[in-house]
Amino acid sequence: MQKIVLFILLSITSLGASAQNFQPEFIRKHIGFLASDDLEGRGTASLGEIKAANYIADFFKTTGLKPAGTNGSFFQPFEVTFAVDGTAHQLIGRNVVGFLDNGAAKTIVVGAHYDHLGKGYQGSSLSPDSKNKIHNGADDNASGTTGVLELAKYFIENDVKEKHNYLFIAFSGEELGLIGSKHFTEKPTIPLNTISCMINMDMIGRLDDNKGVIVSGWGTSKVWGKLIPGLARSQSMKYTVDSSGVGASDHTSFYLKNIPVVQFFTGGHGDYHKISDDAEKINVDGEARILNIIAGLLQKLDQEPTEPEFLTAGNAHAGVTTSNFKVTLGVMPDYSYTGKGVKIDGVSKARPAEKAGILVGDIITRLGGETIGTIYDYMEILGKHEKGQQVDAELLRGKETKTVKVTF
Ligand SMILES: [Zn+2]
Repeated sequence: MQKIVLFILLSITSLGASAQNFQPEFIRKHIGFLASDDLEGRGTASLGEIKAANYIADFFKTTGLKPAGTNGSFFQPFEVTFAVDGTAHQLIGRNVVGFLDNGAAKTIVVGAHYDHLGKGYQGSSLSPDSKNKIHNGADDNASGTTGVLELAKYFIENDVKEKHNYLFIAFSGEELGLIGSKHFTEKPTIPLNTISCMINMDMIGRLDDNKGVIVSGWGTSKVWGKLIPGLARSQSMKYTVDSSGVGASDHTSFYLKNIPVVQFFTGGHGDYHKISDDAEKINVDGEARILNIIAGLLQKLDQEPTEPEFLTAGNAHAGVTTSNFKVTLGVMPDYSYTGKGVKIDGVSKARPAEKAGILVGDIITRLGGETIGTIYDYMEILGKHEKGQQVDAELLRGKETKTVKVTF
């Protein structure tokens, strides 16, 4: 019962998150600087990396974050070894870490890597003849770094003392193998057991409304499936989910320490890891909408009665699907249920499921003539229906099988 009440309260408060809080011109300004030729592609341990790190640290400082690197600074240096033309170089890269201290017991990490491929000597460029050419990395990942900066500013300036602290981290060494985030989780500057969850942004600058945003780490806590769908709806944004906590970005380092993670990503494109990943191709309005979703997520996490529970989440390719929002049942699925069908954990008042008589604990096994294997099938089936359509839903209630008529 408690869960249902909570679900309804959250549905009401979701309105707040739809306000436009993030200004496209600030997004354009940060990305324009970070992805400028002057920063030479922000290769780890390069002069361009240092310039970017200083820009981020200056922004953290003027915004009002406390330094949370090492030795009272915003920087957390780490050793990195990489080969250039067959010769191993040992150099120093640096994470940039700022703390919004609300005096709370738990801290949410908001992170993105700011390093990129430099001038193509570190490998992994997909451009032909890439050596000595600047890889500006506007989408990868000046866009996510900008998300860290603007979210820090938003939470400093919002005049609300949240029930969590926030640790904003710009990681380096990501393109060389998540080195900065691995270093952070091995040598954390706040106790790891005070970290509630980690939100990562890697490539959030190329939103295509037909494809939407890809949300990874979905299976690492039930809380993502509970909170994100309504927020995405408030921004009229489609999304695709990937349950895994292990992926090609820094959230992986936190997941491997049993911390719930979620990552936002607008998808691959033809300029990925090429010298053509430039600032003018960024969809700044799309990024602003994604930041609204993330800010809303942080606010909703603050209203949760408990910290997100960590779940071990599947393998790297489990359960990828697309959903759109023409219709919904008005239920909260139980994301931890692993049997066949969709188990219902909450039913919203006056929505199609409640009107059809679907109850908490029911397991919907078929919808509109299609079998539901997993929650992802369910989301895909929903995507095929229109408002006003009536379909049969077959469900299990205890040992009993029932069929009800649902009108979307
Ligand atoms: Zn990246």
